Amino acid sequence: SREDITYFGAGPALLPTDVLETAAASLLNYKDTGLGIAEHSHRSELATNIINEAKADLASYLDIPEDYEVLFMQGGGTGEFSATAYNLVGAWVERKKKAIFGDLKADEVNDPTLMQQLKTTIDKELKLDYIITGGWSQKAAAEAARLLGPEHVNVVADARQINDGKFGKIPDESTWKLSEDAAMVYYCDNETVDGVEFPAFPKCLEPKADGSGPIVVADMSSNILSRRVPVRNFSAIFFGAQKNLGSTGVTVVIIKKDLLPPKLQQPSASLMRKLALPIPPIILQYEIIAKNNSLYNTLSIFDVYVAGQVLKKLLNTYPDKAAGQEAVSAKKAQLIYGALEAHPDVYKIVPDKAVRSRMNICFRVTKGGDVDGSERAFLKESTAQGLTGLKGHRSVGGIRASSYNSIPMKGAEALAQFVEEFAKA
Ligand code: PMP
Repeated sequence: SREDITYFGAGPALLPTDVLETAAASLLNYKDTGLGIAEHSHRSELATNIINEAKADLASYLDIPEDYEVLFMQGGGTGEFSATAYNLVGAWVERKKKAIFGDLKADEVNDPTLMQQLKTTIDKELKLDYIITGGWSQKAAAEAARLLGPEHVNVVADARQINDGKFGKIPDESTWKLSEDAAMVYYCDNETVDGVEFPAFPKCLEPKADGSGPIVVADMSSNILSRRVPVRNFSAIFFGAQKNLGSTGVTVVIIKKDLLPPKLQQPSASLMRKLALPIPPIILQYEIIAKNNSLYNTLSIFDVYVAGQVLKKLLNTYPDKAAGQEAVSAKKAQLIYGALEAHPDVYKIVPDKAVRSRMNICFRVTKGGDVDGSERAFLKESTAQGLTGLKGHRSVGGIRASSYNSIPMKGAEALAQFVEEFAKA
């Protein structure tokens, strides 16, 4: 039964049992309407209330300022690799277009010189900056290169270059090669596969006193809700629900309203076509999703509901909101890393100490020099004790213990104890 195991899978991840019980009942009969939540129209008032409540609770928990919007989208983190590139390129083109055409609409002007000027600016200056610290930021950069051409992707830093071709470090900011006026600077706050997490917001990307600064976008799929986030430093933050927020099926974007109408309008499809730039599918356009309060098309209200219930539970558990969970997450990580560190002859923690993820604890079992055999034994014995989902990602192997918010302290304690016992056996 659920009580017998602690599931350390990397996502989909464990959800709180009481949330699942409420969700299960709501699937059959939501608020005594005789109809389940997955059957009600996404256009119903009830659905709108679920969306608005989840948005408000997320804003409260993360302290999201008023000038940010919360979007519920589909397509997962992977969809956002494309969406961030499309939307931020659109925003950049719009700014350049304004600078060259003034208030005239580019589509109305048939001045070939101005159009050529815009094209030349794009060819020479359009850059998306990626800080590559693991498999997910690498995939995001690859998607941008596929959509726009590799000439428009600037790799600010690649962690593999300082670590024998492997991930596990974050290159020092002094070595980062940022573009002059990037459409965005992108990074993955927590690399789920490689166990690397930014310890804090990068100093060199902090906004200046006058509020100006780089346009920063972050993937927080696997560490959102586990610590405080300086939302003001970002233009956009996105995350899939399936780790710390809820069930697979919704992706959340927290976006600065500066990037949305009326402040900013995405360039028209016809202009993008003239400029030979990709046109985003309509469901990946942030302004469309924002304008429709996330209901441009059919959204899984059930998944938003589950996310909302998780947020309510967090808000009820921690009076100081994300700061409360942050303390607990740190403690759980310390317990597990501490147990591993106590036996350097048996375990090798993959990432550098300074950038170790609190969420995805990646290590090798090197006992007796037989890594394969030791890891197989580790997995077999841990599973027998109800500690499951510990196998590392297929691309890197090893062991990965994902200590998301739903892993209780006693689950972390049980794993730490097992790590200790396995080393001594
Ligand atoms: N980013 C991160 C950090 C992830 O961990 C994942 C998935 N595990 C993704 C993006 C991709 O998400 P999805 O599978 O929802 O497309």
